[in-house]
Amino acid sequence: MSLRSANDPKYQKPLTRLIDVAAGPLGLKDHEAEGGYSALRKALKDLKPQDVQAKVKEANLRGRGGAGFPTGIKWSLIPMGPDAGTKYLVCNADEMEPGTFKDRLLMEQSPHQLVEAMALCAYAIQAQTGYIFLRGEYVVAAERLNQAIAEARAAGLLGQNVLGGAWSFELYVHTGAGRYICGEETALINSLEGRRANPRAKPPFPQIAGLWGRPTIVNNVETLCNVPHILLNGSAWFKELNQGKTSDAGTKLYGVSGRANKPGCWELPMGTTARELLEVHAGGMRDGKKLKAWLPGGASTDFLLPEHLDLPMDFDTIARAGSRMGTGLITVVAEDQSMVSAVRNLEEFFSRESCGWCTPCRDGLPWTVKILRAIETGQGQTGDIELLSKMTRWLGPGRTFCAHAPGAMEPLQSAIKYFRDEFEIGIVCDIDSSKLDVCTLPAGLPDITDHRDLATKAS
Ligand code: SF4
Repeated sequence: MSLRSANDPKYQKPLTRLIDVAAGPLGLKDHEAEGGYSALRKALKDLKPQDVQAKVKEANLRGRGGAGFPTGIKWSLIPMGPDAGTKYLVCNADEMEPGTFKDRLLMEQSPHQLVEAMALCAYAIQAQTGYIFLRGEYVVAAERLNQAIAEARAAGLLGQNVLGGAWSFELYVHTGAGRYICGEETALINSLEGRRANPRAKPPFPQIAGLWGRPTIVNNVETLCNVPHILLNGSAWFKELNQGKTSDAGTKLYGVSGRANKPGCWELPMGTTARELLEVHAGGMRDGKKLKAWLPGGASTDFLLPEHLDLPMDFDTIARAGSRMGTGLITVVAEDQSMVSAVRNLEEFFSRESCGWCTPCRDGLPWTVKILRAIETGQGQTGDIELLSKMTRWLGPGRTFCAHAPGAMEPLQSAIKYFRDEFEIGIVCDIDSSKLDVCTLPAGLPDITDHRDLATKAS
């Protein structure tokens, strides 16, 4: 019996069912022996491109890159028909969020799964060319993906006239030079075109005008890897993989990093609780420490508390709790760790990775880091917490060109909300910052070399 059976317990973890880190990745022959590429063969033989789109839409697959947008709806926005012309498929494999490492597992250990998934998606949208935009540091993944692509091309599964049909599809690995902003789909497209990796204004969305101005679909690695399994086993099967834990469908690659006993990554039903992730799979907190706070899915999400541990980890529930599931890889903070230091560390990352396109982000993030550094070392001033709170609004949604700065403000605003006392401990001076407001800033660019200069000017 093929492993690709809905009744096979191993197949309840479709994405990782063939992954054996000790044994290494499967080559083409072994992958096909386990049912690999049968979804592609079936689709090209029996299904029209729109049928593939419909099945993915019906499965309610939501993007696993962090935003959770419905994949089938994204695909359905791309122009179809004989006059649609050149189209592209891009896999967003620029995994660079601190604490996130799930896509590396899939690419290194199951490269043919991603190759087949991209061929299926490209067939569904009738793209002729695909790129895997890969984080440059993922050297092993690049090597294994290139090998898998070469094997698939030699077997007629990629290239001219795939499987002897009329449709052709070429797939390439493109390694980035290493910028966090390249994970934003329009910045990724700019980078792929050889331009500076700034985000682009939307609309037009990439589905209409993407790579080289042509219709383009950009999907995350984990999102795409679900597609062959949905095609083979059906939308109803995929929905039930959540074991009734939530309304979101399928399984999810969840993970834990930080002060846990056994940090790692596991494929589990969508809606698994953070408590199960931490206490069962990650073996609890290290050294018997208590959990103080946790980020649900990457550095750009709001902190949650131990009392939120029993919430199902799905997009809507975590949003209702005031955060975002993001990539589903949680980071835990122990009772003896400083929240100010934790946030300062995150903001340094975001500050370093700002693309510099817009002033609030380019100048506001370093300014935020300076204030946090002062508080961290006991040099903070009265009003600094209020100033930081204002920063979360000045750099918040709608104030910057892309979501980088608003994302950077999420851990900060939640840390102030839940752990204000830790910030207060670092305040020693007494300067009235109530006069600090955006309208009091001097004309032109503010001097942010020292936030106290600004405080003096404003007072
Ligand atoms: S918010 Fe930051 S990363 Fe986004 S465009 Fe502006 S400067 Fe660049």
